[in-house]
Amino acid sequence: MKKFGFLLFLFVIMVAFPKGADASSYSAKIYLDGNELSLSSNVKVENISGTVMVPIRVISENLGYSVGWNKSTQTVTVKEGGKTVEMVIGNKYAMINGQRTEMTKAPILRGGTTIVPIRFVSEQMGLNVKWDNQKKAVYLITPTTGGGEDDKLSTVNGISFSDNRLMVAVSGNVKPKVTKLSSPDRIVIDVENAKFSESFSSNNSINANLNGELIVTGYPDVKKVRYSLYNSNPSTVRIVIDLNYAKNYTLQGTESGSSLFIVDLNTSTEPGPDPGTGGKKLVVIDAGHGAHDPGAIGVTQKKEKDFTLALALKVGKLLEKEQNIDVVLTRSNDTFLELKDRVKIANDLKADAFVSIHANSGPSAATGTETYYRREASKSLANVLHKHIIGATGLKDRGVKNGNFHVIRETNMPAVLLEVGFLSNTNDESKLFNTTFQNAVAESIVVGLKEYLKVK
Ligand SMILES: [Zn+2]
Repeated sequence: MKKFGFLLFLFVIMVAFPKGADASSYSAKIYLDGNELSLSSNVKVENISGTVMVPIRVISENLGYSVGWNKSTQTVTVKEGGKTVEMVIGNKYAMINGQRTEMTKAPILRGGTTIVPIRFVSEQMGLNVKWDNQKKAVYLITPTTGGGEDDKLSTVNGISFSDNRLMVAVSGNVKPKVTKLSSPDRIVIDVENAKFSESFSSNNSINANLNGELIVTGYPDVKKVRYSLYNSNPSTVRIVIDLNYAKNYTLQGTESGSSLFIVDLNTSTEPGPDPGTGGKKLVVIDAGHGAHDPGAIGVTQKKEKDFTLALALKVGKLLEKEQNIDVVLTRSNDTFLELKDRVKIANDLKADAFVSIHANSGPSAATGTETYYRREASKSLANVLHKHIIGATGLKDRGVKNGNFHVIRETNMPAVLLEVGFLSNTNDESKLFNTTFQNAVAESIVVGLKEYLKVK
């Protein structure tokens, strides 16, 4: 990392970011490629509702990125290589080379010190980031390019289970071998020439012996899912679905270059129709964020990921009652999926509509409901849904907007992203977590989808 214009931004920092320590914070350690960074004595690394935040001087002094501060617009600009990250105090949307991107937490200005989410900034600059909650340590890793035996291995990046489907996020070309075994009934998935990725532990629990398991509740077929680095030569990741009884499965997403494969237990002994076939419309409902990514944090510390899941589950329940609509949730518990995997689920299933559920964050006075679309093909879905949702929320109508969000940009079908209300607003936040409100909004989404899809 080059120390570009170091003296200049040291000056900027001294002017714009005077010293300020906070009594409630604790100091964590930061390691860059295994070496501990020596932080200035007054620098505190703190975990604010699940997001590790650091004073901006860490980004400039320790990581060597160029940092600028515009006081009148309250904007921090971080530059490195060809990448420019612009963040505004209190705004959870950053601009990455001019593209609007959501952060888990907005930068804060406290006692004259600007505090930014280190994972977001580092990942934007191409570093891999791990947080060890026990050691209170942030690990920043420069990805290696080429060379080394290890680099030839594919990686398993995350394992989740929802809608009776095991989803495995992977990088590299993987050819999972799936075997059905009995006494006890189980499905064994071996991924050869693979290892767990550096970031695996941020999504899944795994111990020092590279063993872990996923608690699965609410699925009668499944006892639990466990995984391990089963073999070292060849390096093999083994995932086992422990079943309550023998069960058939289908394997999806094994084409080369696929970033997600799915072991789907939604098959009866007599093969039934696939979702969305037989004249039925297929809707994918995407609850934003999840697991280590809480999304926005509300005025009373409620998490966006909990709101999005609660509403998605309600929409899912209502849609399941519809004769002419099939529904798939990208997640139905507190798990995390990469944005590209959410898109992949909808694209692979050739869904007819995609609805991503979020809640907004901004200045405390900001309130209301807005609906985003990206592609022209999604505009009419956005208009129809927004009309019904506004009626249900009773909040300020902020309108239908064009927004460059990954999940609505990269999906192939009409897709919208709902910002139902503002978690940063006291009144909005209490409504968002009110069951009656959630039921009404869920109902309005279903009514809107039925109108748009022209189903009875
Ligand atoms: Zn969100």
